[in-house]
Amino acid sequence: MNTKQAKIEPFSEISGLQAALNMERVLAKKIGFIPTMGALHEGHIALVQRAIANGEEPVVSIFVNPKQFNNPEDLKKYPRTLENDCALLAQIGVKYVFAPTIDVIYPENFKPIHLDLGSLDKVMEAKFRPGHFDGVVTVVHRLFEIVQPNSAYFGRKDFQQVAVIKFLVKSFKLAIDLVVCDTLREKSGLAMSSRNMRLSEQEKVDALIIIKCLKKAKSDATNYNPIETVARLILNFEAERKTLLSTIELEYVEIIDPITLENLSEWVPGATCCIALYCGDVRLIDNYELIAYNL
Ligand code: AMP
Repeated sequence: MNTKQAKIEPFSEISGLQAALNMERVLAKKIGFIPTMGALHEGHIALVQRAIANGEEPVVSIFVNPKQFNNPEDLKKYPRTLENDCALLAQIGVKYVFAPTIDVIYPENFKPIHLDLGSLDKVMEAKFRPGHFDGVVTVVHRLFEIVQPNSAYFGRKDFQQVAVIKFLVKSFKLAIDLVVCDTLREKSGLAMSSRNMRLSEQEKVDALIIIKCLKKAKSDATNYNPIETVARLILNFEAERKTLLSTIELEYVEIIDPITLENLSEWVPGATCCIALYCGDVRLIDNYELIAYNL
């Protein structure tokens, strides 16, 4: 039973965290790990709640990983709200927050693992953010090594990241259950994201172009093949964009196989539409399953 606490002090050192988690293991507790970059919102909290619902002791890491940012400006502007994050986590009974500094995660003698991600590292996020997934794999493997969780919780919002982490776990034969949680959205439909804090009120409204396009793709999927559906989405996007006050730039839109992430010409179960765009100078991503997985 997780009880609410007024305050939690985050662990910044590996040894302190590991000693505390070993005590939990002695009490036969399973560890559910939720890696984050902080600036927590309800989407993150839902992952933590899922771990608690599964009877696991949640461990939340808060670390803005410089290795996964290909754009230094994006790294600089990434929101950092550690005190508020800890207060939110305390409210739901989290005892273990790991908020290390960069040199704790990457000490001088640190040797990153090497993992060839193959085609997963050629499309969508990988294409537009070179080196991003090398950074993700490096930090997640390092955090897994430190926390040694039974399960790890990830959001479907970062669809390609989930595919990459599944590949990491399989490749290194890690005994960690991956739990993938649905995307939490604002009432408006906008996917929750730490980056949303950087949107103006107008941009928050105009960013709904994403969800409008994804919904249109979902309804088109019954009448058109994936290639036609993407073409129609882009036409729709361009027409809609001209009516908006904010500057919106589409980076990519793809309809992909949920496992291989390859572009589809025919529908398959789990076919997913993934989109990335800039709303002002804030980069947003989202995705929608167009064809149900359990046909
Ligand atoms: P981040 O802090 O952005 O690295 O995200 C940490 C974890 O929270 C990742 O597994 C994300 O996929 C997940 N996440 C981010 N936004 C949402 C959301 N709106 N709904 C569910 N999970 C999310």
